[in-house]
Amino acid sequence: MYLILFGSPGVGKGTQAKILSNILKIPHISTGDILRDSVKNQTELGLQAKKLMDAGELVPDDLMISLIKETLSKPECVNGCILDGFPRTIAQAVELNRLFSELKISNVVLLHLTANNDEIVRRLTNRRACKQCGNIFNLNDIKEPNVCPVCNATDSLILRKDDKEDVIRHRLEIFDKLTSPVFDYYREHAKTIQINGLLPIEEVNNLILASLKN
Ligand code: AMP
Repeated sequence: MYLILFGSPGVGKGTQAKILSNILKIPHISTGDILRDSVKNQTELGLQAKKLMDAGELVPDDLMISLIKETLSKPECVNGCILDGFPRTIAQAVELNRLFSELKISNVVLLHLTANNDEIVRRLTNRRACKQCGNIFNLNDIKEPNVCPVCNATDSLILRKDDKEDVIRHRLEIFDKLTSPVFDYYREHAKTIQINGLLPIEEVNNLILASLKN
């Protein structure tokens, strides 16, 4: 199965994708993570993407489409994958659809995690990433201040530049303008499911699994 996890920044796509990837045994492909690795490793793509990402802008479609084509043609994606953060524009959705047709893939499901913008701002300003292990946490769930609950690294929890409030609001504007029309496109091109992303993580996950069974 090819699952597209769709929804505004901070709605919990990454969290659900990681859980689903373990359960469904298909890889989690996060374009945001791939780009952040590219920035870290100072690749050509990373150098082009960094400023845009820090400002909460989208990376150009042609770069993203080449990236996804290269990723989907890897052997680990032959039995399916979970796409997290792609497609984010109609142009990306059209190219992905074309790619799926070329690869004779028809079992595509788009899962929309919904949320309101005020809750998203609250969540993202409380979000911290561990620069050591890369895991993401909510400040309220961290017991020892500034100690990563997964790898125990100290002073490694950081606020992503694009999780500052003004940048978050800009990312949400871009989502509403450029990304949300992708959902309407998919209503005509694949099976779609909508789930309230603000419910507790386990509940969201149970609802997703139940809808996928149907
Ligand atoms: P994310 O971790 O999914 O929120 O992505 C972080 C940033 O990476 C976004 O704000 C964009 O700058 C960039 N990005 C990730 N995926 C895409 C995409 N499909 N199209 C354009 N830019 C993207």
